[in-house]
Amino acid sequence: MAIPGQCPGLPRMHIASGEPRLLDLPTIPREHNVSNDVSNDVNNNVSNAVNNYDYDLLVIGAGSGGVRAARMAAGFGARVAIVENRYMGGTCVNVGCVPKKLYVYAAEYGKGFKDARGFGWRTDWHNDKPRFDWATLRDNKKTEISRLNAIYRRMLDGAGAQVFDGHARIIDAHTVAIGGARYSAEKLLIATGGWPHIPDFPGSEYALTSNEIFDLDHFPERLVIVGGGYIAVEFAGIFNGLGAHTTQLYRGPLFLRGFDADVRAHAAQEIARSGVDLRFEVNVESIRPGKGGLHLTLTDGTTLQADAVLYATGRKPNLEGLGLENVDVRLNQHGAIEVDEQYRTSEPSIFALGDVTGGLELTPVALAEGMAFARRQFGALEQAVDYDFIPTAVFCQPNIGTVGFTEEAARERFKDITLFKTTFRALKHTLSGRDEKTFMKLIVDTATDRVVGVHMVGADAGEIIQGIAIALRAGATKAMFDSTIGIHPTTAEEFVTLREPWRGD
Ligand SMILES: Cc1cc2nc3c(=O)[nH]c(=O)nc-3n(C[C@H](O)[C@H](O)[C@H](O)COP(=O)(O)OP(=O)(O)OC[C@H]3O[C@@H](n4cnc5c(N)ncnc54)[C@H](O)[C@@H]3O)c2cc1C
Repeated sequence: MAIPGQCPGLPRMHIASGEPRLLDLPTIPREHNVSNDVSNDVNNNVSNAVNNYDYDLLVIGAGSGGVRAARMAAGFGARVAIVENRYMGGTCVNVGCVPKKLYVYAAEYGKGFKDARGFGWRTDWHNDKPRFDWATLRDNKKTEISRLNAIYRRMLDGAGAQVFDGHARIIDAHTVAIGGARYSAEKLLIATGGWPHIPDFPGSEYALTSNEIFDLDHFPERLVIVGGGYIAVEFAGIFNGLGAHTTQLYRGPLFLRGFDADVRAHAAQEIARSGVDLRFEVNVESIRPGKGGLHLTLTDGTTLQADAVLYATGRKPNLEGLGLENVDVRLNQHGAIEVDEQYRTSEPSIFALGDVTGGLELTPVALAEGMAFARRQFGALEQAVDYDFIPTAVFCQPNIGTVGFTEEAARERFKDITLFKTTFRALKHTLSGRDEKTFMKLIVDTATDRVVGVHMVGADAGEIIQGIAIALRAGATKAMFDSTIGIHPTTAEEFVTLREPWRGD
Protein backbone atom coordinates (compact mmCIF):
# COMPACT_ATOMS: atom_id res chain seq x y z
CA MET A 1 0.00 0.00 0.00
CA ALA A 2 1.26 3.44 -0.80
CA ILE A 3 1.33 4.71 2.75
CA PRO A 4 2.79 8.14 2.26
CA GLY A 5 5.20 7.73 5.11
CA GLN A 6 4.71 8.47 8.73
CA CYS A 7 7.35 10.84 9.86
CA PRO A 8 10.32 8.73 8.89
CA GLY A 9 12.03 6.89 11.62
CA LEU A 10 8.95 6.28 13.69
CA PRO A 11 8.33 2.71 14.75
CA ARG A 12 5.45 0.41 13.82
CA MET A 13 5.72 1.29 10.16
CA HIS A 14 6.87 -1.40 7.81
CA ILE A 15 6.16 0.43 4.59
CA ALA A 16 8.07 3.64 4.38
CA SER A 17 7.62 4.83 0.85
CA GLY A 18 7.60 8.58 0.39
CA GLU A 19 7.94 11.37 2.89
CA PRO A 20 5.51 13.25 5.05
CA ARG A 21 3.58 15.75 3.02
CA LEU A 22 4.77 18.46 5.30
CA LEU A 23 4.18 21.37 3.01
CA ASP A 24 0.64 20.23 2.23
CA LEU A 25 -0.42 20.18 5.83
CA PRO A 26 -2.32 23.44 6.20
CA THR A 27 -4.52 22.69 3.21
CA ILE A 28 -5.48 19.14 4.13
CA PRO A 29 -9.25 19.04 4.69
CA ARG A 30 -9.98 17.90 8.21
CA GLU A 31 -12.60 15.29 8.95
CA HIS A 32 -15.14 15.90 11.65
CA ASN A 33 -15.55 13.04 14.08
CA VAL A 34 -18.46 11.04 12.77
CA SER A 35 -17.80 7.80 14.58
CA ASN A 36 -21.27 7.96 16.12
CA ASP A 37 -22.86 10.11 13.50
CA VAL A 38 -22.83 8.50 10.11
CA SER A 39 -26.28 9.88 9.40
CA ASN A 40 -24.76 13.23 8.48
CA ASP A 41 -22.87 11.71 5.60
CA VAL A 42 -24.37 11.32 2.17
CA ASN A 43 -25.69 7.85 1.61
CA ASN A 44 -25.55 7.61 -2.12
CA ASN A 45 -23.16 4.79 -2.81
CA VAL A 46 -25.26 1.91 -1.52
CA SER A 47 -27.00 0.37 -4.44
CA ASN A 48 -30.77 0.37 -4.10
CA ALA A 49 -30.95 -2.42 -6.63
CA VAL A 50 -31.17 -5.79 -4.89
CA ASN A 51 -28.07 -7.77 -5.78
CA ASN A 52 -27.88 -11.52 -5.61
CA TYR A 53 -25.49 -11.62 -2.69
CA ASP A 54 -26.49 -12.31 0.90
CA TYR A 55 -24.74 -9.12 1.99
CA ASP A 56 -23.27 -5.97 0.52
CA LEU A 57 -20.28 -6.30 2.83
CA LEU A 58 -18.89 -9.19 4.81
CA VAL A 59 -16.15 -8.24 7.27
CA ILE A 60 -13.72 -10.87 8.55
CA GLY A 61 -12.44 -9.95 12.01
CA ALA A 62 -14.24 -7.90 14.68
CA GLY A 63 -11.20 -5.95 15.85
CA SER A 64 -10.60 -2.21 15.78
CA GLY A 65 -10.70 -1.81 11.99
CA GLY A 66 -13.35 -4.42 11.20
CA VAL A 67 -15.88 -3.23 13.78
CA ARG A 68 -15.50 0.39 12.74
CA ALA A 69 -15.91 -0.45 9.05
CA ALA A 70 -18.92 -2.70 9.73
CA ARG A 71 -20.71 -0.16 11.91
CA MET A 72 -20.16 2.71 9.53
CA ALA A 73 -21.12 0.72 6.44
CA ALA A 74 -24.31 -0.47 8.15
CA GLY A 75 -25.01 3.13 9.11
CA PHE A 76 -24.84 4.04 5.42
CA GLY A 77 -27.55 1.47 4.73
CA ALA A 78 -25.39 -1.42 3.56
CA ARG A 79 -26.38 -4.98 4.43
CA VAL A 80 -23.41 -5.98 6.58
CA ALA A 81 -22.19 -9.17 8.24
CA ILE A 82 -19.12 -9.48 10.46
CA VAL A 83 -17.38 -12.69 11.57
CA GLU A 84 -15.20 -13.12 14.64
CA ASN A 85 -13.50 -16.35 15.67
CA ARG A 86 -12.00 -15.37 19.02
CA TYR A 87 -13.00 -12.21 20.85
CA MET A 88 -15.16 -9.16 20.15
CA GLY A 89 -13.05 -6.03 19.86
CA GLY A 90 -9.94 -7.84 18.62
CA THR A 91 -6.39 -7.47 19.85
CA CYS A 92 -6.68 -3.98 21.33
CA VAL A 93 -9.57 -4.78 23.64
CA ASN A 94 -8.60 -8.31 24.62
CA VAL A 95 -4.81 -8.72 24.57
CA GLY A 96 -3.48 -5.31 23.56
CA CYS A 97 -3.90 -1.65 24.40
CA VAL A 98 -6.70 -1.88 26.97
CA PRO A 99 -5.50 -4.66 29.30
CA LYS A 100 -1.95 -3.42 28.89
CA LYS A 101 -2.85 0.09 30.02
CA LEU A 102 -4.78 -1.31 33.00
CA TYR A 103 -1.65 -3.27 33.98
CA VAL A 104 0.49 -0.15 33.49
CA TYR A 105 -1.74 1.68 35.98
CA ALA A 106 -1.32 -1.24 38.38
CA ALA A 107 2.45 -1.15 37.97
CA GLU A 108 2.66 2.57 38.63
CA TYR A 109 1.09 2.18 42.07
CA GLY A 110 4.21 0.30 43.14
CA LYS A 111 6.33 3.42 42.93
CA GLY A 112 3.43 5.60 44.05
CA PHE A 113 3.45 3.99 47.52
CA LYS A 114 7.14 4.83 47.90
CA ASP A 115 6.72 8.34 46.50
CA ALA A 116 3.92 9.07 48.96
CA ARG A 117 6.23 8.85 51.97
CA GLY A 118 7.98 12.07 51.04
CA PHE A 119 4.58 13.76 51.11
CA GLY A 120 3.85 12.57 54.63
CA TRP A 121 1.93 9.38 53.96
CA ARG A 122 2.53 6.23 55.99
CA THR A 123 1.12 2.78 55.36
CA ASP A 124 1.02 0.19 58.10
CA TRP A 125 0.11 -2.85 56.04
CA HIS A 126 2.53 -5.74 56.27
CA ASN A 127 5.35 -3.89 57.97
CA ASP A 128 4.96 -0.83 55.84
CA LYS A 129 5.26 -2.80 52.60
CA PRO A 130 2.29 -2.86 50.28
CA ARG A 131 1.57 -6.31 48.86
CA PHE A 132 0.44 -6.90 45.29
CA ASP A 133 -2.20 -9.54 44.49
CA TRP A 134 -1.97 -10.72 40.88
CA ALA A 135 -5.29 -12.61 40.97
CA THR A 136 -7.21 -9.45 41.88
CA LEU A 137 -5.72 -7.48 39.00
CA ARG A 138 -6.13 -10.31 36.50
CA ASP A 139 -9.71 -11.07 37.47
CA ASN A 140 -10.80 -7.42 37.62
CA LYS A 141 -9.26 -6.97 34.20
CA LYS A 142 -11.22 -10.00 32.91
CA THR A 143 -14.46 -8.54 34.20
CA GLU A 144 -13.79 -5.23 32.49
CA ILE A 145 -12.84 -6.87 29.19
CA SER A 146 -16.02 -8.99 29.27
CA ARG A 147 -17.99 -5.78 29.72
CA LEU A 148 -16.24 -4.28 26.69
CA ASN A 149 -16.83 -7.44 24.62
CA ALA A 150 -20.55 -7.11 25.30
CA ILE A 151 -20.52 -3.42 24.38
CA TYR A 152 -18.87 -4.19 21.04
CA ARG A 153 -21.51 -6.81 20.27
CA ARG A 154 -24.30 -4.42 21.22
CA MET A 155 -22.82 -1.67 19.06
CA LEU A 156 -22.76 -3.98 16.05
CA ASP A 157 -26.28 -5.23 16.72
CA GLY A 158 -27.44 -1.66 17.18
CA ALA A 159 -25.94 -0.65 13.86
CA GLY A 160 -27.83 -3.47 12.17
CA ALA A 161 -24.82 -5.64 11.30
CA GLN A 162 -25.26 -9.42 11.44
CA VAL A 163 -22.66 -10.89 13.80
CA PHE A 164 -21.33 -14.42 13.27
CA ASP A 165 -19.18 -16.21 15.84
CA GLY A 166 -16.82 -18.53 14.03
CA HIS A 167 -13.83 -18.86 11.79
CA ALA A 168 -14.20 -17.36 8.33
CA ARG A 169 -12.58 -19.07 5.36
CA ILE A 170 -12.72 -17.46 1.95
CA ILE A 171 -14.04 -19.84 -0.70
CA ASP A 172 -14.04 -17.52 -3.68
CA ALA A 173 -13.98 -13.79 -4.40
CA HIS A 174 -17.55 -13.35 -3.05
CA THR A 175 -18.07 -16.34 -0.75
CA VAL A 176 -17.03 -17.11 2.81
CA ALA A 177 -17.55 -20.32 4.76
CA ILE A 178 -18.38 -19.96 8.46
CA GLY A 179 -18.76 -23.29 10.20
CA GLY A 180 -20.83 -25.45 7.88
CA ALA A 181 -22.58 -22.54 6.15
CA ARG A 182 -21.61 -20.34 3.22
CA TYR A 183 -22.43 -16.68 2.78
CA SER A 184 -21.93 -14.43 -0.19
CA ALA A 185 -21.21 -10.71 -0.31
CA GLU A 186 -20.56 -8.15 -2.99
CA LYS A 187 -17.49 -7.00 -1.08
CA LEU A 188 -15.30 -8.84 1.43
CA LEU A 189 -13.16 -6.93 3.93
CA ILE A 190 -10.23 -8.72 5.58
CA ALA A 191 -9.46 -7.15 8.97
CA THR A 192 -7.88 -10.14 10.69
CA GLY A 193 -5.06 -8.25 12.43
CA GLY A 194 -1.74 -9.72 13.51
CA TRP A 195 -0.42 -12.58 15.60
CA PRO A 196 2.69 -12.77 17.81
CA HIS A 197 5.66 -14.52 16.31
CA ILE A 198 8.21 -16.59 18.25
CA PRO A 199 11.35 -17.63 16.36
CA ASP A 200 12.24 -21.30 16.29
CA PHE A 201 15.03 -22.32 18.72
CA PRO A 202 15.58 -25.13 21.22
CA GLY A 203 12.92 -24.73 23.89
CA SER A 204 10.88 -22.06 22.10
CA GLU A 205 7.77 -24.00 23.12
CA TYR A 206 8.32 -22.79 26.70
CA ALA A 207 8.09 -19.13 25.70
CA LEU A 208 4.90 -17.13 26.19
CA THR A 209 3.56 -14.33 24.02
CA SER A 210 1.61 -11.19 24.87
CA ASN A 211 -1.55 -13.23 24.21
CA GLU A 212 -0.98 -15.39 27.30
CA ILE A 213 0.87 -13.11 29.69
CA PHE A 214 -2.22 -11.21 30.89
CA ASP A 215 -3.94 -14.31 32.22
CA LEU A 216 -1.21 -16.33 33.93
CA ASP A 217 -2.41 -18.50 36.81
CA HIS A 218 0.52 -17.39 38.96
CA PHE A 219 2.48 -14.17 39.09
CA PRO A 220 5.99 -14.79 37.65
CA GLU A 221 8.39 -13.65 40.36
CA ARG A 222 11.23 -13.90 37.83
CA LEU A 223 10.39 -12.91 34.28
CA VAL A 224 12.65 -12.75 31.24
CA ILE A 225 11.37 -10.63 28.35
CA VAL A 226 12.95 -11.00 24.94
CA GLY A 227 12.57 -8.20 22.38
CA GLY A 228 13.32 -4.54 21.89
CA GLY A 229 10.10 -3.13 20.49
CA TYR A 230 7.48 -1.15 22.35
CA ILE A 231 5.55 -4.22 23.53
CA ALA A 232 8.64 -5.74 25.14
CA VAL A 233 9.55 -2.44 26.78
CA GLU A 234 6.03 -1.93 28.12
CA PHE A 235 5.80 -5.41 29.63
CA ALA A 236 9.20 -4.97 31.25
CA GLY A 237 7.86 -1.83 32.93
CA ILE A 238 4.65 -3.56 33.98
CA PHE A 239 6.22 -6.60 35.60
CA ASN A 240 9.07 -4.64 37.14
CA GLY A 241 6.52 -2.24 38.62
CA LEU A 242 4.43 -5.11 39.97
CA GLY A 243 7.46 -6.48 41.77
CA ALA A 244 8.81 -9.23 39.51
CA HIS A 245 12.55 -9.55 39.03
CA THR A 246 12.49 -8.55 35.37
CA THR A 247 15.22 -9.08 32.82
CA GLN A 248 14.87 -7.67 29.31
CA LEU A 249 17.11 -9.06 26.57
CA TYR A 250 17.56 -7.45 23.17
CA ARG A 251 19.89 -8.69 20.46
CA GLY A 252 20.74 -5.20 19.11
CA PRO A 253 22.88 -2.45 20.68
CA LEU A 254 19.90 -0.35 21.85
CA PHE A 255 16.16 -1.05 21.95
CA LEU A 256 13.23 0.93 20.45
CA ARG A 257 14.65 1.06 16.95
CA GLY A 258 13.01 3.83 14.92
CA PHE A 259 12.57 6.23 17.85
CA ASP A 260 14.77 9.31 18.21
CA ALA A 261 18.25 8.30 19.40
CA ASP A 262 18.12 10.63 22.43
CA VAL A 263 14.78 9.15 23.42
CA ARG A 264 16.12 5.62 23.18
CA ALA A 265 19.18 6.41 25.25
CA HIS A 266 17.22 8.33 27.90
CA ALA A 267 14.56 5.63 28.14
CA ALA A 268 17.22 2.92 28.53
CA GLN A 269 18.83 4.87 31.35
CA GLU A 270 15.53 5.44 33.19
CA ILE A 271 14.26 1.90 32.69
CA ALA A 272 17.51 0.44 34.01
CA ARG A 273 17.39 2.88 36.92
CA SER A 274 13.86 1.76 37.74
CA GLY A 275 15.11 -1.76 38.31
CA VAL A 276 14.78 -3.67 35.03
CA ASP A 277 17.87 -5.79 34.34
CA LEU A 278 18.39 -4.50 30.81
CA ARG A 279 20.81 -6.42 28.61
CA PHE A 280 21.65 -5.53 25.01
CA GLU A 281 23.48 -7.48 22.31
CA VAL A 282 22.43 -10.79 23.75
CA ASN A 283 19.86 -13.38 22.75
CA VAL A 284 18.47 -16.66 24.02
CA GLU A 285 20.14 -19.80 22.73
CA SER A 286 17.90 -22.31 24.48
CA ILE A 287 15.28 -22.75 27.18
CA ARG A 288 14.81 -25.95 29.13
CA PRO A 289 12.68 -26.74 32.14
CA GLY A 290 14.68 -27.74 35.21
CA LYS A 291 14.88 -27.53 38.95
CA GLY A 292 13.59 -24.16 40.12
CA GLY A 293 11.99 -23.07 36.87
CA LEU A 294 13.07 -22.47 33.29
CA HIS A 295 16.78 -22.46 32.54
CA LEU A 296 17.92 -20.12 29.80
CA THR A 297 21.28 -20.25 28.07
CA LEU A 298 22.20 -16.96 26.44
CA THR A 299 24.41 -16.26 23.43
CA ASP A 300 27.03 -14.58 25.65
CA GLY A 301 27.47 -17.87 27.51
CA THR A 302 25.64 -16.77 30.66
CA THR A 303 22.58 -18.50 32.10
CA LEU A 304 19.37 -17.28 33.68
CA GLN A 305 16.56 -18.89 35.65
CA ALA A 306 13.00 -17.68 35.33
CA ASP A 307 9.42 -18.56 36.14
CA ALA A 308 8.28 -17.35 32.72
CA VAL A 309 9.82 -16.16 29.47
CA LEU A 310 7.89 -13.67 27.35
CA TYR A 311 8.78 -13.32 23.70
CA ALA A 312 7.78 -9.96 22.22
CA THR A 313 9.83 -10.26 19.07
CA GLY A 314 7.32 -9.12 16.50
CA ARG A 315 3.92 -9.85 15.02
CA LYS A 316 2.89 -11.33 11.71
CA PRO A 317 -0.26 -10.72 9.64
CA ASN A 318 -2.95 -13.16 10.75
CA LEU A 319 -3.80 -15.16 7.64
CA GLU A 320 -4.15 -18.57 9.28
CA GLY A 321 -6.84 -20.68 7.61
CA LEU A 322 -8.23 -17.64 5.80
CA GLY A 323 -8.42 -19.38 2.41
CA LEU A 324 -6.33 -16.83 0.51
CA GLU A 325 -5.16 -19.64 -1.76
CA ASN A 326 -8.68 -19.60 -3.25
CA VAL A 327 -8.45 -16.00 -4.45
CA ASP A 328 -6.01 -13.63 -6.10
CA VAL A 329 -4.93 -11.60 -3.07
CA ARG A 330 -1.28 -10.58 -3.35
CA LEU A 331 1.02 -10.37 -0.32
CA ASN A 332 4.02 -8.07 0.03
CA GLN A 333 7.54 -9.19 0.95
CA HIS A 334 6.67 -9.08 4.66
CA GLY A 335 3.73 -11.45 4.16
CA ALA A 336 1.15 -8.67 4.66
CA ILE A 337 -1.79 -8.13 2.33
CA GLU A 338 -0.91 -5.58 -0.31
CA VAL A 339 -3.52 -2.84 -0.73
CA ASP A 340 -3.78 0.49 -2.50
CA GLU A 341 -4.84 3.78 -0.89
CA GLN A 342 -8.47 2.66 -1.03
CA TYR A 343 -7.65 -0.63 0.74
CA ARG A 344 -8.30 -2.64 -2.45
CA THR A 345 -6.38 -5.88 -2.80
CA SER A 346 -5.40 -7.38 -6.14
CA GLU A 347 -8.77 -9.24 -6.08
CA PRO A 348 -11.31 -6.56 -7.08
CA SER A 349 -14.08 -7.54 -4.63
CA ILE A 350 -11.74 -8.04 -1.66
CA PHE A 351 -10.41 -5.25 0.58
CA ALA A 352 -8.09 -5.31 3.59
CA LEU A 353 -7.07 -2.87 6.33
CA GLY A 354 -5.50 -2.63 9.76
CA ASP A 355 -2.58 -4.71 11.00
CA VAL A 356 -3.07 -7.41 8.38
CA THR A 357 -1.82 -4.94 5.76
CA GLY A 358 1.43 -4.39 7.69
CA GLY A 359 1.14 -0.62 8.00
CA LEU A 360 1.26 1.32 11.24
CA GLU A 361 0.14 -1.19 13.84
CA LEU A 362 -1.94 1.13 15.97
CA THR A 363 -5.60 1.04 16.92
CA PRO A 364 -6.39 4.63 15.90
CA VAL A 365 -4.89 3.90 12.48
CA ALA A 366 -7.05 0.79 12.02
CA LEU A 367 -10.10 2.82 13.12
CA ALA A 368 -9.30 5.62 10.66
CA GLU A 369 -8.84 3.10 7.86
CA GLY A 370 -12.14 1.40 8.70
CA MET A 371 -13.93 4.76 8.54
CA ALA A 372 -12.25 5.80 5.31
CA PHE A 373 -13.10 2.45 3.72
CA ALA A 374 -16.78 2.57 4.72
CA ARG A 375 -17.17 6.18 3.59
CA ARG A 376 -15.56 5.55 0.28
CA GLN A 377 -17.37 2.28 -0.50
CA PHE A 378 -20.80 2.99 0.99
CA GLY A 379 -20.99 6.72 1.66
CA ALA A 380 -19.42 8.03 -1.56
CA LEU A 381 -17.12 10.25 0.47
CA GLU A 382 -13.50 10.25 -0.49
CA GLN A 383 -11.52 11.12 2.60
CA ALA A 384 -8.21 9.38 2.56
CA VAL A 385 -6.44 8.69 5.82
CA ASP A 386 -3.64 11.17 6.42
CA TYR A 387 -0.69 9.19 7.76
CA ASP A 388 1.48 12.21 8.52
CA PHE A 389 2.37 13.26 12.05
CA ILE A 390 0.73 10.32 13.78
CA PRO A 391 1.61 10.61 17.46
CA THR A 392 2.47 7.54 19.45
CA ALA A 393 3.38 6.56 22.99
CA VAL A 394 5.25 3.82 24.78
CA PHE A 395 3.75 3.22 28.20
CA CYS A 396 6.99 2.40 29.96
CA GLN A 397 8.05 4.17 33.17
CA PRO A 398 8.40 7.02 32.53
CA ASN A 399 6.29 7.16 29.35
CA ILE A 400 7.61 8.00 25.92
CA GLY A 401 5.51 10.30 23.74
CA THR A 402 6.55 11.24 20.25
CA VAL A 403 5.25 12.93 17.12
CA GLY A 404 6.96 13.89 13.89
CA PHE A 405 10.51 13.50 12.70
CA THR A 406 13.27 11.97 14.72
CA GLU A 407 16.48 13.98 14.67
CA GLU A 408 18.05 11.40 12.37
CA ALA A 409 15.16 11.58 9.85
CA ALA A 410 14.95 15.39 10.08
CA ARG A 411 18.63 15.71 9.22
CA GLU A 412 17.98 13.76 6.03
CA ARG A 413 14.80 15.63 5.14
CA PHE A 414 15.71 19.27 5.93
CA LYS A 415 18.73 21.31 4.98
CA ASP A 416 19.19 22.67 8.46
CA ILE A 417 17.49 21.90 11.74
CA THR A 418 17.60 23.55 15.15
CA LEU A 419 17.30 21.43 18.27
CA PHE A 420 15.93 22.34 21.68
CA LYS A 421 16.46 19.87 24.51
CA THR A 422 16.07 19.74 28.24
CA THR A 423 16.57 17.13 30.96
CA PHE A 424 15.29 17.82 34.46
CA ARG A 425 13.81 16.37 37.61
CA ALA A 426 10.07 16.96 37.77
CA LEU A 427 8.78 19.04 40.69
CA LYS A 428 6.93 16.05 42.17
CA HIS A 429 10.16 14.17 42.67
CA THR A 430 11.77 16.91 44.74
CA LEU A 431 9.65 15.56 47.63
CA SER A 432 9.10 11.97 46.49
CA GLY A 433 12.84 11.48 46.34
CA ARG A 434 12.49 9.47 43.15
CA ASP A 435 15.58 9.81 41.02
CA GLU A 436 13.76 10.02 37.69
CA LYS A 437 14.62 12.49 34.94
CA THR A 438 12.31 13.91 32.31
CA PHE A 439 13.64 14.51 28.82
CA MET A 440 12.09 16.80 26.18
CA LYS A 441 13.18 17.67 22.68
CA LEU A 442 11.91 19.92 19.89
CA ILE A 443 13.17 19.67 16.32
CA VAL A 444 12.70 22.75 14.16
CA ASP A 445 13.16 23.18 10.42
CA THR A 446 15.41 26.24 10.52
CA ALA A 447 14.34 27.57 7.12
CA THR A 448 10.61 27.73 7.91
CA ASP A 449 10.72 27.76 11.75
CA ARG A 450 8.21 24.89 11.72
CA VAL A 451 8.37 22.44 14.57
CA VAL A 452 8.69 19.08 12.83
CA GLY A 453 9.39 16.74 15.73
CA VAL A 454 8.51 16.65 19.42
CA HIS A 455 9.76 13.92 21.75
CA MET A 456 9.38 13.35 25.44
CA VAL A 457 10.33 10.77 28.04
CA GLY A 458 8.54 11.62 31.24
CA ALA A 459 5.38 11.24 33.27
CA ASP A 460 2.22 11.44 31.15
CA ALA A 461 4.18 11.93 27.93
CA GLY A 462 1.42 10.13 25.99
CA GLU A 463 -1.21 12.58 27.27
CA ILE A 464 0.98 15.62 26.59
CA ILE A 465 2.09 14.65 23.09
CA GLN A 466 -1.51 14.07 21.95
CA GLY A 467 -2.15 17.81 22.27
CA ILE A 468 1.18 18.77 20.75
CA ALA A 469 0.35 16.59 17.71
CA ILE A 470 -2.55 18.89 16.85
CA ALA A 471 -0.16 21.85 16.83
CA LEU A 472 2.29 20.05 14.57
CA ARG A 473 -0.44 19.02 12.15
CA ALA A 474 -1.63 22.61 12.07
CA GLY A 475 1.90 23.67 11.07
CA ALA A 476 2.94 25.38 14.31
CA THR A 477 6.23 27.25 14.24
CA LYS A 478 8.73 27.58 17.05
CA ALA A 479 7.65 31.22 17.36
CA MET A 480 4.09 30.01 18.05
CA PHE A 481 5.36 27.61 20.70
CA ASP A 482 7.30 30.52 22.24
CA SER A 483 4.33 32.89 22.26
CA THR A 484 2.06 30.30 23.90
CA ILE A 485 1.64 30.96 27.61
CA GLY A 486 2.53 27.96 29.73
CA ILE A 487 0.47 26.31 32.45
CA HIS A 488 2.42 26.60 35.64
CA PRO A 489 3.61 24.53 37.36
CA THR A 490 3.51 21.65 34.90
CA THR A 491 6.06 19.55 33.08
CA ALA A 492 4.43 20.31 29.73
CA GLU A 493 5.10 24.06 30.08
CA GLU A 494 8.74 23.31 29.27
CA PHE A 495 7.69 22.84 25.66
CA VAL A 496 6.81 26.54 25.42
CA THR A 497 9.77 27.84 27.41
CA LEU A 498 12.65 26.19 25.55
CA ARG A 499 14.45 29.35 24.46
CA GLU A 500 18.07 28.38 23.85
CA PRO A 501 18.95 26.12 20.94
CA TRP A 502 20.93 23.08 21.96
CA ARG A 503 24.55 23.47 20.89
CA GLY A 504 25.96 20.11 21.83
CA ASP A 505 26.90 18.48 25.12
C1 LIG B 1 0.36 -6.15 23.62
C2 LIG B 1 -0.14 -5.12 22.64
C3 LIG B 1 -0.27 -3.82 23.03
C4 LIG B 1 -0.74 -2.86 22.14
N1 LIG B 1 -0.85 -1.58 22.57
C5 LIG B 1 -1.31 -0.63 21.72
C6 LIG B 1 -1.46 0.71 22.18
O1 LIG B 1 -1.17 1.04 23.32
N2 LIG B 1 -1.95 1.62 21.30
C7 LIG B 1 -2.29 1.29 20.02
O2 LIG B 1 -2.74 2.15 19.27
N3 LIG B 1 -2.15 0.01 19.57
C8 LIG B 1 -1.67 -0.94 20.39
N4 LIG B 1 -1.55 -2.23 19.95
C9 LIG B 1 -1.85 -2.53 18.53
C10 LIG B 1 -3.36 -2.67 18.30
O3 LIG B 1 -3.89 -3.62 19.18
C11 LIG B 1 -3.59 -3.10 16.85
O4 LIG B 1 -2.95 -2.18 16.00
C12 LIG B 1 -5.08 -3.13 16.49
O5 LIG B 1 -5.77 -4.01 17.34
C13 LIG B 1 -5.26 -3.57 15.04
O6 LIG B 1 -6.61 -3.68 14.72
P1 LIG B 1 -7.09 -4.65 13.55
O7 LIG B 1 -8.54 -4.37 13.35
O8 LIG B 1 -6.19 -4.53 12.38
O9 LIG B 1 -6.88 -6.14 14.08
P2 LIG B 1 -7.27 -6.84 15.44
O10 LIG B 1 -7.67 -5.89 16.49
O11 LIG B 1 -6.14 -7.76 15.76
O12 LIG B 1 -8.57 -7.68 15.07
C14 LIG B 1 -8.53 -8.78 14.21
C15 LIG B 1 -9.65 -9.73 14.61
O13 LIG B 1 -9.84 -10.70 13.57
C16 LIG B 1 -10.14 -11.96 14.16
N5 LIG B 1 -9.85 -12.99 13.16
C17 LIG B 1 -8.64 -13.32 12.63
N6 LIG B 1 -8.79 -14.26 11.67
C18 LIG B 1 -10.13 -14.54 11.60
C19 LIG B 1 -10.90 -15.43 10.81
N7 LIG B 1 -10.33 -16.19 9.84
N8 LIG B 1 -12.23 -15.49 11.01
C20 LIG B 1 -12.82 -14.69 11.95
N9 LIG B 1 -12.14 -13.82 12.72
C21 LIG B 1 -10.80 -13.74 12.54
C22 LIG B 1 -9.21 -11.98 15.38
O14 LIG B 1 -9.66 -12.92 16.34
C23 LIG B 1 -9.32 -10.54 15.87
O15 LIG B 1 -10.36 -10.38 16.80
C24 LIG B 1 -1.10 -3.22 20.81
C25 LIG B 1 -0.97 -4.55 20.41
C26 LIG B 1 -0.49 -5.50 21.31
C27 LIG B 1 -0.36 -6.92 20.86
